[in-house]
Parts: sequence; structure tokens; C-alpha cells
Amino acid sequence: MLQLELCWISHMHADHHLGLLHLLEMRAALKPNGPPLVVVGPQALQRWLNLTIIPDPSPSPSPSPSPSPSPSPSPSPSPSPSPSPSPNPNQALQRWLRTAAAALHTPLYFRFVHCGAAPHDGGVGMAMRRLGFERLAISPVVHSFDAWAIALQHREGWGLVYSGDTRPCEGVVRLGRSLRPKARILVHEATFDDNPGMRREAEQRKHSTVAEALEVAQPDGLTLTTDH
Ligand SMILES: [Zn+2]
Repeated sequence: MLQLELCWISHMHADHHLGLLHLLEMRAALKPNGPPLVVVGPQALQRWLNLTIIPDPSPSPSPSPSPSPSPSPSPSPSPSPSPSPSPNPNQALQRWLRTAAAALHTPLYFRFVHCGAAPHDGGVGMAMRRLGFERLAISPVVHSFDAWAIALQHREGWGLVYSGDTRPCEGVVRLGRSLRPKARILVHEATFDDNPGMRREAEQRKHSTVAEALEVAQPDGLTLTTDH
């Protein structure tokens, strides 16, 4: 956990970014005042982290103990939900997350970089070099707003493309071709099967099928592994 150099969040869907808060909490609990984690993501992620981590200035529904300069590393009990049910599930989630973050009394350290700025960011470059990568490239993909794919070229010759969630797209193909041909790995999402109904759903929800992921990988000889 403490050896993590960088965290890449491809887009702002809950199954791709909600765990980041707990990761930051764990790092802060293990090593208070440790070096900030470089968090690369869409612009909305920075707003979400700031909203979530900075305590809510409005009256808190649950009184908390007096602040202590020393963080409590002990596992905290599950935060209690707000006593008054909210009509808006997003507001309820925000309140829950704020309560969870505040319960630690530990500042969470991170430095945010937008996905589109990552190839030119000095901190990202330093993290890449420490990890043995000589190049990082990015491309927007066809999914939600501000969704990105990433390519990493390692100095030992192998390279990796991670598509994030997307329809098959030229940007991911180009990232694959930008890697040295020795050993290229493509991690491409393949959420749906290839029967006609699933294909239609993949198109409507801007995801890919297994066959579509193969069609991206095979022409350029990339080794495919699928995910979601
Ligand atoms: Zn998604």
C-alpha cells in the first residue's frame, strides 16, 4: 500500500473510483504525513475528492469526538447513516463518505493530475521512472464524459495499454501501435457477450463485447486480457 506510486482512474463511474477514498485512508492510517499519492483522473474526480474529504461545513448529524493530533489507526466501526433519510441518494452517499473520512481525523494526502496532463506532468514522470517506465501516453475513449485510456512502455521492452470502459475505438488502437512490438499487452474491457441482444446493449451503454475486444487486439498482435 505504501509503495504505491500512482493511481490511475479512467473515468467517473462508481465501480472505478469509489475505492480510492479507502485506499487514501489506509495509506494515511499506515503512515500519517507520508508522501502524497499521485492520483491521475478525470476533472470530476478532483471535485469529488475535495467534496468528500473536506468536512461538511453544514451541521453534522452525528457528533464526533474532539479532534486529536494523533490519528487513530484502529479500524473504525461502520459509520452510522444519517438519521434523517435523504430524498437524494447522491446527497446521502456524499454525507456518508464525509462521515467516513472525518472519522479518521487524518488528513488524506494526494496530488491530483488530470488524465490529459499526465504525459507532461513532472510528478507523474518521476513516478514512471521509479517504476521503470520510459513513456506514458493517453487517449480519450468512447464511454462517459472525460474517460481515458493509458499506454505504458517499460524500459525492459514490454508495454501495456489499459482501455478503461469504452466502445472499440481508434484511440486505443493507436496506443497499442505506439508500444514497442516486442511484448504488448492490451487490457480491454469486455462487459458483454456477443449474442445480438448483448451486442445492442454494449452499443447503447458504450461498452464492448468479447469479440470487439479481440478485434482491437488481434490485427496488431497484442496479447489480450479482458476486464471490467
Ligand atoms: Zn464506466
